[in-house]
Amino acid sequence: MPEKPKVAFYWCASCGGCEEAVVDLAEDILGVVNAVDIVLWPVAMDFKKKDIEARPDKSITVSFINGAIRTTEQEEWVRLLRRKSQFVISFGACANSGGIPGLANQFTREQILKFSYEDSPSVSNEAKTRPQASCQDEGHALSLPTLHNVVRSLDQVIEVEYTLPGCPPTPKLIAGAVTALLSGKLPPKGTVLSPDIALCEECPRKDSKPADLALAEFKRPHSSPIDPEKCLLAQGFTCMGPATRSGCEALCVKGNMPCTGCFGPTSRVRDQGAKYVSSVVSNIVPKDEAGIDAVLAGIPDPIGTFYRYGMPKSILRRKVDLS
Ligand code: SF4
Ligand code: SF4
Repeated sequence: MPEKPKVAFYWCASCGGCEEAVVDLAEDILGVVNAVDIVLWPVAMDFKKKDIEARPDKSITVSFINGAIRTTEQEEWVRLLRRKSQFVISFGACANSGGIPGLANQFTREQILKFSYEDSPSVSNEAKTRPQASCQDEGHALSLPTLHNVVRSLDQVIEVEYTLPGCPPTPKLIAGAVTALLSGKLPPKGTVLSPDIALCEECPRKDSKPADLALAEFKRPHSSPIDPEKCLLAQGFTCMGPATRSGCEALCVKGNMPCTGCFGPTSRVRDQGAKYVSSVVSNIVPKDEAGIDAVLAGIPDPIGTFYRYGMPKSILRRKVDLS
């Protein structure tokens, strides 16, 4: 009997939703589990790092890696998996472009540690104790990973063959990727495994999106009623559809919520946030500076809105403290 393909799943800086997405394959997961040998899946099975280190190089057919690279341990793991794998699939928004963890690039490592261990209102730490990279306890040498100063996407650390977009990728896209791998019908390396068109083109509300949006104000979903039929951007909600790759089948819009951009940009867009700002700002009704500022005041968190999933991969990459 031919050997089954060896598959690894690993997670770095992420929320766990991408692991849930694999389980969301529902009964299809049984077919996957029958067709492959899972050699690593920390969230579900007890494999150790030494098990992977002992494997010959390139003996894992494919590693699905989700999450951004925040710590020294994550970097060690993804470099190890790169060496042991024929293919690496960057799985989900955090691996692809930094995701929500990437928003930490607005702060230095020192600012993050100081707030988390000293200044946060819920912390009581008079001794200002912080985690140490190494220490001795009852004769045992203990070590902990440390934080890098910036969050990076997976492809800023190792080479990846394919990218599955989404927060998380949908079961349909995951099943398509697994089927392509198992059948050997692989697209060219570097392919993002979802359609290379903007979300607006597959949106059920696209016919209600006017050419001239005439934006007089921006509204927020929790404080304004939303018309369930009309284009969300035309209603003044910051729907990221014009700057976001399709493939999710407009999940959020069908749930009457604006797209927040988790599928990242299409191949023709270098910077998702800049693309969105340039297309939206030109549609603001006031043309004088004070009027434009008044409209933009309706977006209280521009970085969290325009770069929610992609700050490390953007042209900005991080905020620099010049003080
Ligand atoms: S802006 Fe949003 S709601 Fe409007 S067509 Fe595009 S994806 Fe749909
Ligand atoms: S609508 Fe936007 S935020 Fe929602 S799943 Fe699709 S790409 Fe992601």
